[in-house]
Amino acid sequence: MPVKKILKKSIAKREGKLFVVSAPSGAGKSTLCQRLIKNTQGVKLSVSYTTRERRKGERNNVHYSFIDEKIFKGMIRKGGFAEWAVVHGNLYGTSLGRLKEMNKKGYDIILDIDIHGAMQIKKSYKNAVYIFILPPSMNVLKKRLKGRNTDSGETIARRLDNAKDEIRHYKYYDYVIKNEDLEKAYREFESVILASRVKKNNIDQNWIDKLIT
Ligand code: 5GP
Repeated sequence: MPVKKILKKSIAKREGKLFVVSAPSGAGKSTLCQRLIKNTQGVKLSVSYTTRERRKGERNNVHYSFIDEKIFKGMIRKGGFAEWAVVHGNLYGTSLGRLKEMNKKGYDIILDIDIHGAMQIKKSYKNAVYIFILPPSMNVLKKRLKGRNTDSGETIARRLDNAKDEIRHYKYYDYVIKNEDLEKAYREFESVILASRVKKNNIDQNWIDKLIT
């Protein structure tokens, strides 16, 4: 088969790549994701819908789209979510419309979602890259959750309870990053993203065509 045809077959027109990032609460996932989108062009963080209370400093439609349960359930009925889950007693979901829109524009998308949401995404997005962030120990996780000062003692206890069950799911992910030293964890996280972006099947077909015609 001529090289051109082989390339056409194996390299699709460049569409946004999907990165699914999960971690127990307090592992440092949000810090890593925020830093990545600040430093890297063409990568966007998907803004989820949630029924949880807005924390101090959080902005609507920036950190989350904060909606009530009735609206959330209406969106479920209308098939508005690529995935959704109950996490720590609240509803969270990734909008299918937002995902498609960003993908069409060629953005790589980061989904900061829990393990149940990630397992749903796995069924329909075969080419997504799955990354799991872990704390070095449960003690460190506890300290980080307490130090955040954003959640009540009851919420922290619930999040710690859920952490072990979440960690057991690490085996369904492609990459596991230990966040002990933030700089090292960030370098590893960024490397995974950058390497995945230059995989052969993620390259712009038009650019290749121009090189060989
Ligand atoms: P937090 O309330 O601390 O912002 O997030 C709690 C958990 O919900 C985190 O593990 C986060 O990844 C997860 N989460 C955030 N958005 C979504 C979403 O759209 N879908 C799912 N399944 N989980 C989400």
